[in-house]
Amino acid sequence: MRLLVVEDDPDLNRQLVQALRDAGYVVDKATDGEEGHFLGDTEPYDGVILDLGLPVLDGVSVLEKWRRAGRKMPVLILTARDRWSDKVAGFDAGADDYVAKPFHMEEVLARVRALLRRSAGHATSELTCGPLALDTKSARVTVDGTAVKLTSLEFRLLSYLMHHKGKVVSRTELVEHLYDQDFDRDSNTIEVFVGRLRKKLGVDVLHTIRGMGYCISEPENAG
Ligand code: CA
Repeated sequence: MRLLVVEDDPDLNRQLVQALRDAGYVVDKATDGEEGHFLGDTEPYDGVILDLGLPVLDGVSVLEKWRRAGRKMPVLILTARDRWSDKVAGFDAGADDYVAKPFHMEEVLARVRALLRRSAGHATSELTCGPLALDTKSARVTVDGTAVKLTSLEFRLLSYLMHHKGKVVSRTELVEHLYDQDFDRDSNTIEVFVGRLRKKLGVDVLHTIRGMGYCISEPENAG
């Protein structure tokens, strides 16, 4: 899953990016509202952490512009003060959740997990598909209760597909959501990773849809 952090405080920006990367996300960052708005408008993010007090263009305006343009990604706003009017303005502009500063990083991580899950239509932290289970909280993957060891890229790939269970995901979409903007992207490598992942899982849930992409679905529904 690929996230955008828009925060002008350099220390806080660095801490957020690091914590989210450590949690297995691909993260892009911006330090003012204009840059943040541009990235959110042109790159396909699965979620955004948006500070409200930003230089050049404030967070509420950034969010309003995205929503007016039809950008639907879930947005967690950071409010500098615990002022109710900031939160109201943020929610009215289209925010999905908020965290008031100062915050504990664990809370931000938990809220991001919940946002991503909800936007994919899942109610709990465990995503399942037949014998396969992926816990978004512990980043643990099991098949029939037995843990499967994955590399971070394999985990990101599986996590993205599990969040979009039952839908066909193209290689291009996977590349866009598994690597950050600076990465030299090559969609051919995705096929290699899918092959490895399928082998490690050992169950028939990860399907190649010829000419279209990949899809995770229950083994009995296999096409
Ligand atoms: Ca700020």
